[in-house]
Amino acid sequence: MNPSIKVFKFGGASIQDAAAFQNVGNILKKYQNDPLVIVVSAMGKTTNALERIVKAYMSEQEHKKDDPFKLLEEVKQHHYLVTSILFGEDHPVYALLNDTFVEIEWIIEDEPQDEYDYIYDQLVSIGEMAASRLLTAYLNHIKLSASWLDARDVIRTDDTFREGRVDWDMTTKQSQQKIPALLSKTNFVVTQGFIGGTQENFTTTLGREGSDFSAAILAYTLDADSMHIYKDVQGVLTGDPRLFKEVQKMDRLSYREAIEMTYYGAKVIHPKTIKPLENKNIPLHVKSFLQPDEPGTVITKIVDVDYPPVVVVEPNQVLLHISTRDFSFVTERHLGYLFQQFDKNRIKINMMQNMAISFTVCVTERSERLAKLLAELEIDFKLVVERGLELITIRHYDDKIVKSLSEGKVILFEEYIRGTMSMVVKNMSQTR
Ligand code: ADP
Ligand code: ASP
Ligand code: MG
Repeated sequence: MNPSIKVFKFGGASIQDAAAFQNVGNILKKYQNDPLVIVVSAMGKTTNALERIVKAYMSEQEHKKDDPFKLLEEVKQHHYLVTSILFGEDHPVYALLNDTFVEIEWIIEDEPQDEYDYIYDQLVSIGEMAASRLLTAYLNHIKLSASWLDARDVIRTDDTFREGRVDWDMTTKQSQQKIPALLSKTNFVVTQGFIGGTQENFTTTLGREGSDFSAAILAYTLDADSMHIYKDVQGVLTGDPRLFKEVQKMDRLSYREAIEMTYYGAKVIHPKTIKPLENKNIPLHVKSFLQPDEPGTVITKIVDVDYPPVVVVEPNQVLLHISTRDFSFVTERHLGYLFQQFDKNRIKINMMQNMAISFTVCVTERSERLAKLLAELEIDFKLVVERGLELITIRHYDDKIVKSLSEGKVILFEEYIRGTMSMVVKNMSQTR
């Protein structure tokens, strides 16, 4: 429908301070004649800071360790510091930022009445609201014409707070109604990643790191020409550079390979991002915001090439060994019930195995949700829980890499399926 629209996404690191905003401005100058939809996350680590505010606000008065107002003040100070460097002391964006932060103050002035996940979304979404206000104002300040769009008026979700499920029909309708009209007035449209709105106008979030997914949703609904995400790495690498020294950048990846990598937990792209792009055959460019002229990694519909081994490490893993109280076999009837409980508590199973008298699953530690699930399962089952583990997945494994990654570790659980090896391990230093 709009073959020339490109969707750009800038994550937290790319707008963490004033110099980073200026860098984004320089990247965008080269596209000043192209219709761009620009999706931004919250600045730097703002989302983590906002999560701490939610925790402080929601904890019982007698257990309160932190003051939510004090934490909010720190977030505001950082935003105002960046604003003063970019715009000086007097600019209309200050009033917009004040209005944005006041929304948090209104909520935390009263005692919490609503459910945790609902409050979370109303507070945490403010990070993206503030960053998108700042970026729009900054682009206009440097004479790049940009409109601000409220993503909650476009991305429609259900009311599963903290994990809103997208209503694709409504989102497509709203996106096609609103975005091309704005692009006919300004070349750029800036909007928020990570957030959506319900039919009743409540704010939802799409899950941590969800801004990549937001950009893909918009690219899909607009039949965009391409999507570009700017990160602090050169592109998609064969492993997380924070964990491994010798990683290589991959120039090209198929949609399928990218889906597999992100499904197993590669943190570079949110796992829900690729499928909508694949469905419309929209290329995804993963690039460095520090070297924006380098080609990065291009993800398209290619016939799979020979990939090097790619490693994904998921920390904070828990193994649950579930058996019946009377040591009878774990049957399909038990499994049906167990899967329902996992689904109800929104706990994703990373790996599983059924043996005669026990069913073992590997899940990621999510304190509150997991505690609730375990309490429910304990009514009917006997549980053995092993915490503090790692799940290592190697795509295109060979013996050498399996050997080197298992060194110094006890393998508790492993699986080999069509070129992918997964193992749940405990570091030797944790054992005696
Ligand atoms: P954003 O700023 O868009 O939110 P993220 O911080 O979520 O970006 O993602 C980029 C980070 O992902 C990198 O800094 C890197 O440490 C990490 N990462 C993990 N696995 C990979 C991988 N296979 N390739 C590239 N980066 C990876
Ligand atoms: N700001 C959100 C987060 O930190 C969304 C994102 O960055 O993609 O999770
Ligand atoms: Mg991210």
